[in-house]
Amino acid sequence: MANIKVPYLDLKAQYQRIKPEIDAAIARVLDSCQFVLGTEVAGFEQEFAAYCGTAECIALNSGTSALHLALLAAGVGPGDEVITVPFTFVASVAAVVYAGARPVLVDIDPRSFTMDPAAIEALITSRTKAILPVHLYGQPADMDPIMEVARRRHLVVIEDAAQAHGAKYKGRPVGSIGDIACFSFYPGKNLGAYGEGGAVTTSNAEFGRTIRMLRDWGQDRKYHHVLRGFNYRMEAFQGAILRVKLRHLERWTEARRAIVGKYNQLLAGSGVELPTEMPWARHVYHVYTLRTHDRDALHAALQMEGIQTGIHYPVPVHLQPAYADLGYARLTLPESEKAADEVLSLPLYPEMTDDQIERVSEALTGLAATR
Ligand SMILES: *Cc1c(COP(=O)(O)O)cnc(C)c1O
Repeated sequence: MANIKVPYLDLKAQYQRIKPEIDAAIARVLDSCQFVLGTEVAGFEQEFAAYCGTAECIALNSGTSALHLALLAAGVGPGDEVITVPFTFVASVAAVVYAGARPVLVDIDPRSFTMDPAAIEALITSRTKAILPVHLYGQPADMDPIMEVARRRHLVVIEDAAQAHGAKYKGRPVGSIGDIACFSFYPGKNLGAYGEGGAVTTSNAEFGRTIRMLRDWGQDRKYHHVLRGFNYRMEAFQGAILRVKLRHLERWTEARRAIVGKYNQLLAGSGVELPTEMPWARHVYHVYTLRTHDRDALHAALQMEGIQTGIHYPVPVHLQPAYADLGYARLTLPESEKAADEVLSLPLYPEMTDDQIERVSEALTGLAATR
């Protein structure tokens, strides 16, 4: 088995299994010559809103655009503050800066890797407009206490659900819990387009209307610009492809969860700390992340054995050079910093074979034992 190579992700394996459906969807768009928005995108919006249990979905050209427009619709602008986490993909924090506001960073809970709700209230000021929790790795943040403090202090809650399509919090789908939620359909995400893509979900009609206008130049009708908008429209190819893939998403999520069950069993007692599915969560395992003290050595040794792993993320946003001016020194957000030093993501995609899962587990167990 030692000669089995395991990539971190295998998009080709997925495409091969759904090729006829995808190719037909692409041909449909070509025949229609309707390349931007149009019926395929509108169809996807309806189907994804139904999947998330929201009144509306507005399809966009990326998850970053979704965060940007969600913040603008929430009224966030210069002089405002938005509370979010530093242990995330950079876009969560960058979007706050796009909106002209100041990101105020709150540490994570070390078990869930998501926003620590107990630390929020002390950070709220008269300038705070919104709270932006991230459902990192596919696990929902602890939303009840976040919603409670937001309601009491009149703040908007924007979920960053870019990694969490289909995840549930106490039985409710992410995307339907906060006031607005943002999804990414970047190809490697659990629901991935074949190019860039994103969406907002909301059941607030006013937010929905604003975001729909902002994505298409702020028009309320053609060439009447009531808002200063953007070109953030979704392409028809991506809408058509996402409609096909959405029909497979539950099955893929169950496959991910089954693989995680096997990893958990095979890696128990290996000495690395396994991920925790919190009691409130249906975790959709966008990534399967371990903690280990000599992460960099393990990452390199697995690479030598033909096993690709990932690090999500090696540097928290407050320690990135681009965000040094936010003014957070090292040791100010200790759980995020510790996680950044310890996390290692194993290969995980729905088409993984038992041989591959066993190969990864065996190599990891062997390496962990020799440390
Ligand atoms: C991928 C991602 C984004 C950004 O989505 P894009 O589609 O790449 O712009 C935002 N937040 C998180 C947590 C992500 O993982």
